[in-house]
Amino acid sequence: MIPVTEYAGRDVAVFGLGRTGLSAAKALAAGGARVHAWDDDEATRERAAQAGVTLSDINKRDWQTFAALVLSPGVPYRYPQPHRVVRMAEAVGVPVVGDMELFARAVLALPERGRPKVVGVTGTNGKSTTTALIGHILRHAGIDARVGGNIGTGVLDMAPLHANAVYVLELSSYQLDLAKSLHCNVSVFLNLSPDHLDRHGGMEGYRAAKKRIFNGQQAGDTAIVGVDDVNGQALAIGLKRTPARVCQVSSEFALGKGVSAVDGRLFDSLTGKAVLVGDLREARALQGAHNHQNAAAAYAACRALGVDSATILKGLKSFPGLPHRLEIVGQQGGVTFINDSKATNAQAAEQALKALGRVYWIAGGVAKAEGIGPLEPYFPKVARAYLIGEAEEAFSRTLKGKAPTRRCGTLEQAVHQAFEDARASGEKDAVVLLSPACASFDQFTSFEARGDKFRDIVKGLGAASPHGAMESA
Ligand code: ADP
Repeated sequence: MIPVTEYAGRDVAVFGLGRTGLSAAKALAAGGARVHAWDDDEATRERAAQAGVTLSDINKRDWQTFAALVLSPGVPYRYPQPHRVVRMAEAVGVPVVGDMELFARAVLALPERGRPKVVGVTGTNGKSTTTALIGHILRHAGIDARVGGNIGTGVLDMAPLHANAVYVLELSSYQLDLAKSLHCNVSVFLNLSPDHLDRHGGMEGYRAAKKRIFNGQQAGDTAIVGVDDVNGQALAIGLKRTPARVCQVSSEFALGKGVSAVDGRLFDSLTGKAVLVGDLREARALQGAHNHQNAAAAYAACRALGVDSATILKGLKSFPGLPHRLEIVGQQGGVTFINDSKATNAQAAEQALKALGRVYWIAGGVAKAEGIGPLEPYFPKVARAYLIGEAEEAFSRTLKGKAPTRRCGTLEQAVHQAFEDARASGEKDAVVLLSPACASFDQFTSFEARGDKFRDIVKGLGAASPHGAMESA
């Protein structure tokens, strides 16, 4: 745990006692604060008490006595409207902070020379892959890299700060909203497309939250920006005045200055002269243009931290990949099953459809506002779509006349029917792909639970389970 001493001897309210709230409460208490932890839900409060957190009903307290309100990521800060506790805090001028802010303050509490380096990664898609990839490469280079934040270990649950360590943190837009003091020595902004707009009051708010990753950067720091979408391009122009070194990355364009992955070949043109680093198609777990963007960003981040190109390339090639992202979970009767459960929006599912050939496609769940309309260019690759969950009807309307569909209700049905069709087709190398373009919570507790279920069903078909990522089409 990383103790937070900033509020030692003072009263701090912690609202929302999920995983993040619990670790914040513990980290604050370990740093000497008087913690007032609360949640509106009784069962959650009970769980918190069992986890050793002392409860205190903040609704009945004098809010003037609080030095801060720590807000959990699940609690609305500004949109759709500020939560009751946010209004209570702001009415008396109590700052509202998140777990990343507490981490930032724990770093700032150290003498300047004793502060570890921080790498922050944000974007709509690719955050976890890029964060894990940077951690993998740094470790491969012999650096004490610690990976956490929105991925794996919550930031305050990480081992105590160590001056020589590099903290590689995945940052959600919610965390960035509430982390005003965070200083990233290396900031990575991958891409930006509509997602979670309800929580940020539209695209402008979402963009503003993500841009915060560059706030606090100083001379000597590096700002890495993916310029494959218009938002990244606008941001790169807007960063002209930052004291940090700006580095553009792309998997679409050969950049005059920056890092580019062109048709899978990685070029370093950080000095303005393009040097071929190597072939990303040899990196098994980084297939597809989207992963090449992640690889280019990770390359730039590791170069900024002083790792040499050859070591980075080795790290890229040995990266094992993350579960639920184009993960091959089994092969049976000539059919390959790919788990891309993490594709919770159309943009993420598009990457899978782009990277693969013809697919028996399982989609559905709770759709995002854009539905699957943006995926229309890929419908000709869909041998048949197997639809599940709440989005079934809407998706079958979108696909009508463009690709054959079958409404399956459950994932189980969908896998069985897709397998039957794929096998019966006699196609060589048929692929059954779960890439739902939807959130999972109508039928599952999380995208991980959905992907695990998919893996189990596939196993139940008697499929062999070769671990690893897919080969691109
Ligand atoms: P995040 O943590 O931002 O949700 P992940 O690394 O977990 O991102 O990847 C989630 C999904 O997003 C992947 O399964 C893939 O479909 C898609 N994806 C990954 N990287 C990118 C990228 N750079 N651009 C667009 N889509 C991506």
